Amino acid sequence: MKYEWMDSALCAQTDPDLWYPEGPGQHARTALRVCTQCPVRPECGEYAQDVEDASDGRRYGAWAGMSANARSRQTPATVERDRQIISLTAQGLSAAEIGARLDVTGRTVVRVRADHRQQQEAA
Ligand code: SF4
Repeated sequence: MKYEWMDSALCAQTDPDLWYPEGPGQHARTALRVCTQCPVRPECGEYAQDVEDASDGRRYGAWAGMSANARSRQTPATVERDRQIISLTAQGLSAAEIGARLDVTGRTVVRVRADHRQQQEAA
């Protein structure tokens, strides 16, 4: 099914193979950079989740500026947790302080920060 927002999708104007890298060491960094400029990123993310949930629930390829691995970890609760981690980081709290406050491991804090930094660098 095609939706009106798809007419504005930047990936429709680039090489589709960028979104489905295959093999060890392959990644969708170039695709994720394109996504950061895309005007329909929220619609894309919702669409990808709906389509994948309706099939086998697994995440494939890069959509909406996120890798398949990042999207597979995403739930409403993790989205809110990640938002809080980034907010507390901006306030100057250490990973240990944030972990204690949000009841998550320091490793989770570090990973969320790294993912966020990677998205910022791709922008
Ligand atoms: S955000 Fe979605 S629609 Fe936009 S370029 Fe990325 S994959 Fe394509």
